[in-house]
Amino acid sequence: MKFGGSSVGTTERMRRVAERIVDAKRQGNRVVVVVSAMGDTTDDLIDKARELTDEPSAREMDMLLTTGEQISVALLSMAIQHLGERAVSLTGWQAGIRTEPVHGKARITGIDPARIYRELDADNAVIVAGFQGMTEDGEITTLGRGGSDTTAVALAAAIQADRCEIYTDVDGVYSTDPRIVKNARKLSSISYDEMLELAHLGAAVLHPRAVEYAKHHRVHLVVRSSFTNNEGTLVKEEAEMEQGVVVRGIAYDKNVTRISIMGVEDVPGVLANVFGALAAEGIDVDIIVQSYVQNGKADFSFTVSSNDRPQAMKVIENVRSAVPYREAGYEDGLVKVSIVGAGMVSNPGVAARMFDVISKQGVSIKMVSTSEIKVSCVIEAEPLQRVVRALHTAYGLDTSEAAFVGGPQERR
Ligand code: ADP
Ligand code: ASP
Ligand code: MG
Repeated sequence: MKFGGSSVGTTERMRRVAERIVDAKRQGNRVVVVVSAMGDTTDDLIDKARELTDEPSAREMDMLLTTGEQISVALLSMAIQHLGERAVSLTGWQAGIRTEPVHGKARITGIDPARIYRELDADNAVIVAGFQGMTEDGEITTLGRGGSDTTAVALAAAIQADRCEIYTDVDGVYSTDPRIVKNARKLSSISYDEMLELAHLGAAVLHPRAVEYAKHHRVHLVVRSSFTNNEGTLVKEEAEMEQGVVVRGIAYDKNVTRISIMGVEDVPGVLANVFGALAAEGIDVDIIVQSYVQNGKADFSFTVSSNDRPQAMKVIENVRSAVPYREAGYEDGLVKVSIVGAGMVSNPGVAARMFDVISKQGVSIKMVSTSEIKVSCVIEAEPLQRVVRALHTAYGLDTSEAAFVGGPQERR
């Protein structure tokens, strides 16, 4: 059972989560729980660091941020003990979670669940801090924002749990973010591949690496509400599609920056040089577009996460001696909106329809990328809500019922 930040945002909510865990335990289950930092704790800690420095060291950031989850596990464990059940809290490293030596977005390299088994054998509910691990050298790491989902799924795989339940502030995975489209529909099931695309394309409800893990280890993964008993969404191998519906869901990513490099010599090795240098700095590049060549010079542009923009521009400046170009620039504040559905492969015209819907909103498309099961368009941020709603209607995803949205409406 994994509980996200808003599910444990206050001690009152923490108490309700404790009751839920106690219920599960009293029904005869052995329970391992993963919990996130309370409410906006992680954001608040980041703000504090930024008050002191523009470039906090990645190591110290991990040291700082991992405290958030440690507060949660201790409090939750106490709340369970107060209800008369046995519980023990563990940090990520106590739970045996090893990661690669990367700060801020480490991957889990292995889990030794011996301690967890010992605690389960002692009849404890085992409460593990999400989002954190330790390297071979004993350095503390974090798994990237939203990474507690990954802790939960990875632990579920390591202990071969019967199922992994992700409890959050909405009651499942919806056709799009129910906070911007009120008549989004709750999906009773979704395939690993579709969920993976949605998560990668910005649907915050599950961390992309959690879905990767679930797919790889065939984890029985359920997303459901921590506030109600409504049935959630099952993420599984293949999910049935309603007749005539080709788009399963719509996702958006608000953190897109487009970087353009103009007047580059059209010789072999240009892209290898530029993107090699970006990769060496750990900067993920998303959509890449190279325009036609004129007078032996080419222009190209690509997108990065807005957070990576300052570092990416430095890299571009540094490669200038190896790859001469006329000028480089960037455009911040863009968004990427994507449609996802396994049925797209065999349905021509899905992308054309998307372009048509967006153009009817009077919005111009800056970049496009497609795969077998998704189409993404980069647009300006301002019309995002309108565009998502129009697409949601156009692909027949609207329901007559308003989506259930639990939890705090005000979110950062
Ligand atoms: P937690 O703190 O529990 O990890 P998150 O904020 O990370 O919660 O994820 C839940 C949020 O994901 C929801 O409040 C919702 O606004 C957002 N979301 C985005 N896309 C979707 C979607 N397709 N289905 C459900 N929720 C979504
Ligand atoms: N607390 C971390 C974050 O806010 C991890 C998580 O909630 O999954 O990103
Ligand atoms: Mg989350």
